[in-house]
Amino acid sequence: MKTFCGRANPTTGAMEWLEEDENYDYHQEIARSRYADMLHDKDRNVKYYQGIRAAVGRVKERGEKAIVLDIGTGTGLLSMMAASAGADFCYAIEVFKPMANAAVKIVEKNGFRDKIKVINKHSTEVTVGPDGDMQCRANILVTELFDTELIGEGALPTYEHAHKYLVQEGCEAVPHRATVYVQLVESKRMWSWNKLFPVHVECEEGEKIIVSPSAMENCPGVPSVCDIQLNQMPSSDFTILSDVATMFSVDFSKPVRSASTSYRVQLEPVKSGKAQIVLSWWDIDMDPSGTINCTMAPYWVKSTSALQWRDHWMQCVYFLPNEEPVVQGEEVSLIACRDEYSVWYKLQKAREEENKAAVCIESPVCRCQAHLLWNRPRFGQLNDQNRTRQYTKSLMKVLTTDSVCLSISDGSLLPVLAHCLGAKQFFKANHLEDKIKIIEARPELLTSSHLEDKKISLLVGEPFFTTSLLPWHNLYFWYARTAVASHLTSSVTVLPQSASLHMMIVEFQDLWRIRSPCGTCEGFDVQTMDDMIKNSLNFRESKEAEPHPLWEYPCKSLSDPQEVLTFDFRDTVPEHSLSTEGSVKLLRKGKSHGAVLWMEYHLVADISVTTGLMQISNEKGNCEWNPHCKQAVYFFSSVIESETLSDLPSAVTYAINFNTKTGEISMDFKL
Ligand code: SAH
Repeated sequence: MKTFCGRANPTTGAMEWLEEDENYDYHQEIARSRYADMLHDKDRNVKYYQGIRAAVGRVKERGEKAIVLDIGTGTGLLSMMAASAGADFCYAIEVFKPMANAAVKIVEKNGFRDKIKVINKHSTEVTVGPDGDMQCRANILVTELFDTELIGEGALPTYEHAHKYLVQEGCEAVPHRATVYVQLVESKRMWSWNKLFPVHVECEEGEKIIVSPSAMENCPGVPSVCDIQLNQMPSSDFTILSDVATMFSVDFSKPVRSASTSYRVQLEPVKSGKAQIVLSWWDIDMDPSGTINCTMAPYWVKSTSALQWRDHWMQCVYFLPNEEPVVQGEEVSLIACRDEYSVWYKLQKAREEENKAAVCIESPVCRCQAHLLWNRPRFGQLNDQNRTRQYTKSLMKVLTTDSVCLSISDGSLLPVLAHCLGAKQFFKANHLEDKIKIIEARPELLTSSHLEDKKISLLVGEPFFTTSLLPWHNLYFWYARTAVASHLTSSVTVLPQSASLHMMIVEFQDLWRIRSPCGTCEGFDVQTMDDMIKNSLNFRESKEAEPHPLWEYPCKSLSDPQEVLTFDFRDTVPEHSLSTEGSVKLLRKGKSHGAVLWMEYHLVADISVTTGLMQISNEKGNCEWNPHCKQAVYFFSSVIESETLSDLPSAVTYAINFNTKTGEISMDFKL
């Protein structure tokens, strides 16, 4: 079956109807899923296996039959581990139909047909009894329902229900318990993801400062979790204010309560500073004694040799509602509140503690609107003084006192910057009502009355649009520029004057795992899963690039960066496609995992900003990426390893096409 889905094209802005196969969503879900990453997570797999063996052993020792309930079986992996460990029977529950089907195939292929029953249901729909899905309650409960925040995927209500209806009292659980840890830090870098700092504008009369309204300053932001690869955050980017503390734990072998609650820990600051951020991660003990432990602790907490790279579990950054000064040695209490699916934090000074009972504070809700408009990387970008300086310098070059300016970008500070620099006439922006006029119209619906019958002499954009996922989606600026062409003077200045698409071949330290087949996992054949992912990746004829924030995913360059396409914003979008072909030489030995692509904007003739590569930092080719932007990654379907530079392929050939009608970039690489 085909369905038509309406959407605004992120690049061209045009409303379009896409004919989507009904399976499109599920292919997307599988293609972009974390199953491969989980199967590559050796540390996790080994520890689950150890924990499962131990649990089956304890049940057998008591002379009981081992009946396993595996909630969220995915590929069936944990059930197959249990069956191999001697479990008498496993009920493997999986709600996602394509996965449940895959589990059936994988279980059969590995010869566990008689031991494992795959049930395609949500666990809360599972029935127990002679005619039920399960003959009897299980005495071993195995799950892997955790996200980076531990409870965000609904582990608590699932456990609560399972203990009430699906498992025996006193059952064994793998994992046995989870513990959430916290550490209080000060970090300008991370704080800049949630607050707008004063923006310093250097203009001719000296420095002006743009400050955010107080509603914004006091706004706690949005409740969505901020999960990052904390191991990529250099220790110079934050100051530790407290030791690591245990915030709360959950014993999965006992009835679990999912209802909202709060926890409190006393922290004695090890340093004076501004408490801004709570860093948090968890670990799971696979057995009651805690000897089999799988931890997400970051590099400064545990030895680097014990670090397992994984993308399905990372670490959390929580923003305190306001920054609070803390003094070394003067205790403060940190309060964690949670509902069924999320956690948030608050700091309390000793003197405020009379109020101990009333701690269940509300989850953060953005009151200032800014956090709804700007996501965390965008806050970071707007707070980047270096970037602001580039835009200021560029604006100063093109602004004149009689410029009539139009800004096209989402939630942009450009109009305010330009106003500080002396622009008199500015359209579209915020509360400088008399100087800046906000026009609530799409570019193609702009009329001369919106512009008070004036012609635009300066068109500016960052460009940035909230609908952009891939770097080139911000080319929407070009389409908008084309749509407003009739309102521009013949000598209009467009800033940026052009953009270019850049490309480089890289070897990833770890990110390759998320798209790489597993073959076998702990001795079980999971190739069915590999095939399924491959099939979903190929579901659309053209393979697509995917966005990743590469500052979190180290890689080294194997080629020089190369400019592959340019887009001249001084002209309108051409009718014909823009395409290019060529080859890039491989300069370093390594595995060519894929190509990274990003945009650079040429604001004025001699000032450019990059949304991708900042620099190649050493002779090994380690790359430094713009920390506020996602880059596009195109994974090659086969990895070419060049051990020495002579047994090449010494070059990768490419063909890249920008279809100006659809706004899509298609690419093809040959090694
Ligand atoms: N157990 C597998 C897969 C874990 S991923 C492994 O460890 O490799 C979690 C899986 O649980 C997903 O496939 C998801 O669809 C499924 N799931 C989550 N909550 C569920 C529930 N309450 N009932 C059934 N399946 C669930």
